[in-house]
Amino acid sequence: MKDYLVKATTTDGMFRAYAVTAQEMVMTAQKDHDTWSASSAALGRTLIGTVMLAASVDKSGEAITVKIDGKGPVGEIIADSDSKGNVKGYIQKPHVHLPLNVNHKIDVGKAVGVNGFLEVTRTSDGEDPYTSSVPLASGEIGDDFTYYLAQSEQIPSAVGVSVFVNDDNSIGAAGGYLIQVLPGASDEAISKVITRIKQIPMISELLLDHQTPEEILELIFGKGKLHFLSTNPVAFYCNCSKTKFARDLEGIPVSQLEAMLKEDDGLSVTCNFCQKHYDYDEDELATIISVAKSRGKN
Ligand SMILES: [Zn+2]
Repeated sequence: MKDYLVKATTTDGMFRAYAVTAQEMVMTAQKDHDTWSASSAALGRTLIGTVMLAASVDKSGEAITVKIDGKGPVGEIIADSDSKGNVKGYIQKPHVHLPLNVNHKIDVGKAVGVNGFLEVTRTSDGEDPYTSSVPLASGEIGDDFTYYLAQSEQIPSAVGVSVFVNDDNSIGAAGGYLIQVLPGASDEAISKVITRIKQIPMISELLLDHQTPEEILELIFGKGKLHFLSTNPVAFYCNCSKTKFARDLEGIPVSQLEAMLKEDDGLSVTCNFCQKHYDYDEDELATIISVAKSRGKN
């Protein structure tokens, strides 16, 4: 199944719902960052939550950056998504593998830790970025997105994110759902949805069983109870380029750039998000230095 995200509302107008299948997205992240099981699950869940959060933003053109740091073994996790389903991410410690928890699942809560924050930055063209953060609820990531939406955005929500890692470290399935309670929803309808969410298997298990995101939402709300509004592709995609990194380099103090030119005859940078390398030879570095110098004069 190709990766995609589906948006829906319930026919009674009480809920908005998103579901995503994202195996290829997490596979790409796994390969780029060479992540082991616990790191794959932690980074994958963060990517899935972030791409759904970005899709749930009404304003088009707004980008979302999520930073999670629970002081656990995987360290800091960053994910960045535009509103069109392009998401990229980074995990500080990719080589973390932990014994399974009591439910025979990857212990993501332990890998991420719980002594820290989930921070969300919203960026849209021509406006100052807006950042808010909440303490981590469990480090399991789905719970933490749920808590963020309730606390910071005052939207009662339920977020489920899950990644199934095969024994050989490859990604068997990955996906999630995000459900938002709309104004006017009855208490009875809300408790029914909560009960259903508790009853259904993990999303990655449903996806392994070849259920589609649409079918997963129908499992929660019932067949015929949803209006499907749109389906959009999602992917792990990094928009870095040699030109973009050159622009960042132009911001480094000239003395440092000149020292690099003298010592190393050039410069090599690696993108944190996709691990791509960019090399700048002597001439290219000299051009960067002259731009940096001319900026300094202004
Ligand atoms: Zn990159």
